Amino acid sequence: MDALRHRRSNHGRKSHGVEVGKVLIGNGEPVRIQAMTDTDTSDHEATACQAAQLIEAGAELVRITVDRDEAALAVPVIRERLFEMGMDQPLIGDFHYNGHDLLKRFPSMARALDKYRINPGNVGFGRHRDDRFAQIIDCALEHERPVRIGVNWGSLDQRLLQELMDRNARESEPSSAKTVMYKALAQSAILSAEAANRRGMGNDKIILSVKLSDPLGLIRVNEDLAGQSDHALHLGLTEAGMGRPAIVASSAALSPLLLQGIGDTIRISLTPRPGQDRCEEVRVARDLLQSIGMRAFSPRISACPGCGRTTSSKFRNLADDIQKIVDQRMIAWNGKYQGVENLKIAVMGCIVNGPGESQHANVGISLPGTGEEPIAPVFVDGKKYATLRGKALTKNFVDIIDDYVETHFSKVNDLKKIKPKSTKPNQKEPSVSPTHSIIRGP
Ligand code: SF4
Repeated sequence: MDALRHRRSNHGRKSHGVEVGKVLIGNGEPVRIQAMTDTDTSDHEATACQAAQLIEAGAELVRITVDRDEAALAVPVIRERLFEMGMDQPLIGDFHYNGHDLLKRFPSMARALDKYRINPGNVGFGRHRDDRFAQIIDCALEHERPVRIGVNWGSLDQRLLQELMDRNARESEPSSAKTVMYKALAQSAILSAEAANRRGMGNDKIILSVKLSDPLGLIRVNEDLAGQSDHALHLGLTEAGMGRPAIVASSAALSPLLLQGIGDTIRISLTPRPGQDRCEEVRVARDLLQSIGMRAFSPRISACPGCGRTTSSKFRNLADDIQKIVDQRMIAWNGKYQGVENLKIAVMGCIVNGPGESQHANVGISLPGTGEEPIAPVFVDGKKYATLRGKALTKNFVDIIDDYVETHFSKVNDLKKIKPKSTKPNQKEPSVSPTHSIIRGP
């Protein structure tokens, strides 16, 4: 198990540990990063390739849609493809409406998945609802798989909401409709977990989530949920949108919860721009966890924003070059140097804050601002180390970083190759032939 331990606040909440494939979630483990594919799952090659890209980017669990027979048939093929690529990260099946039926008819799919995601608002309607929910839980018990009971405000159980609304209306001082809805969201998750318990499922097999697209609502509901249960929790601002606003909203919603120790896995639900790859949501999740000190994934490069003292483009270019070079270097450093992800580099624009900030980094450089002598002092662990100047400045600075990594981080053995486990399809089930014989890694 990953040796990393996240930093929780003193009010940290310890949840039940839930094993999802090889990954333990909750019980004080590092907050895990999930991502979800957007390919048609029946296209097993495209889905396996995208899942592989997400894993390469840092996803520790990948969720895929399982919505019809063709998708169910493709799941074991996707699992095998990922094993062939040396990837044993857990696969999660996302079920709505017909999960009870698919899981029953396609046991190879049920076995190939490491967790089932159920939305209690989308299991079924009327008298079918409880039956179908029970069938999914029974299937999870049969295959010894955990579930995530994921409540979403877009598909909140209307029967429960109406019940709470009616009860609220009879109160002498009724709460607002919004407050009742927040209560209904948390209640829906807790009541569903209790229903799973009654069928024999332990809390070590249940992860809960309640998702909204309103950041403040998400914080409120999850604080409420965390106060009422000790289940492992998955967090995510649903339908966050695109680009910068979505990243800011997700960070604003998740950070206060994570810093209170609420949340054991996260997903950043970004809509990719046309043509953009799917991996941005993983990069944002990593940056978020790193920025609040819970995980470390890659060296942090501090750079000042620049101002009237940095009128040449040299400073921006150096900051940009160093970021790109370090990102590239991390491919080789990762797994070779233990703890290199904690390296701190500073690229500063002038003498005002440059030397001071650089001294707080492991390796820092303070470029000359407008009118300053054209020299750049470099600091290593707070001490003046060199003075750079001239055209080779970037190369010389990179050499100093390389040297620092080589001399300050112990070398580790190459990562062991992951040994695939087999999920051979049941011969009685219908099989699906791959449309392409080989999947290449991303
Ligand atoms: S360090 Fe210098 S260049 Fe950078 S923002 Fe501060 S004053 Fe401006």
